[in-house]
Amino acid sequence: MNIPAPALDVKDLHKTFGQLEVLKGVSLSANVGDVISILGSSGSGKSTFLRCVNLLESPTAGSIRVRGEELKLRRDPTGQLVSADRRQLTRVRAKLAMVFQNFNLWAHMTVLDNLIEAPIHVLKLPRREAVERAEALLEKVGLHARKDYYPAHLSGGQQQRAAIARALAMEPDAILFDEPTSALDPELVGEVLKVMQVLADEGRTMIVVTHEMGFAREVSSRVVFLHQGRIEEEGTPGEVFANPRSERFRQFLSGKL
Ligand code: ADP
Ligand code: MG
Repeated sequence: MNIPAPALDVKDLHKTFGQLEVLKGVSLSANVGDVISILGSSGSGKSTFLRCVNLLESPTAGSIRVRGEELKLRRDPTGQLVSADRRQLTRVRAKLAMVFQNFNLWAHMTVLDNLIEAPIHVLKLPRREAVERAEALLEKVGLHARKDYYPAHLSGGQQQRAAIARALAMEPDAILFDEPTSALDPELVGEVLKVMQVLADEGRTMIVVTHEMGFAREVSSRVVFLHQGRIEEEGTPGEVFANPRSERFRQFLSGKL
């Protein structure tokens, strides 16, 4: 029997900024349908990890496979690993959608245009098809009535839901979320978490850097705790929250880290 390749398989990822070693060998494998929450204090390397996975940041060492396909890397003159194959990078990046803390919608485009831009230009979808797909996704995240609005005229929660719909429009293999609710007013967090819960229930593969313990406990299939560039604790929410092995993770949970 063929065992399907993991959606994402990162091995021994290192990242150094000058003298600062931010990632000290992080390995993470996500099977199709996994929802992995990455927890950790500020500065532990969470964003750097996500950014290295789609090469928004150049790792110093390590390997990355997406659906079994290894990213071809070469060492640049500064000693960092960069893509050795631009076409592969474009293709793979399109399959790894990213949702950022600050939404990063294109401010000069309407919500609908934000959703059809990459499908038309990267996936080469005919405009009509891209619009159809976008409208269905806006319906799904509860924003169809706002499709002709500019981002500035939406609440933070609406902008983030639009950003998630934009990510989905690429039909990604995995979605990487970097603190998707951290910039939101508390009363808007719930509407975004609700959309993420729906995606999890649909079996989408998600890697979520978050401080939302409720989400980590109830929605994720696996929790990873990053501390100073290393995975300190890893397991199902049941395992790690009921019975943390790492002292640092205990401290983190009690708010002392
Ligand atoms: P987290 O997302 O867990 O808060 P980051 O990955 O953003 O942590 O940062 C980890 C460490 O790497 C921090 O000490 C940060 O200052 C440093 N860092 C991140 N990006 C850069 C960069 N481009 N240049 C230099 N240092 C960086
Ligand atoms: Mg961060």
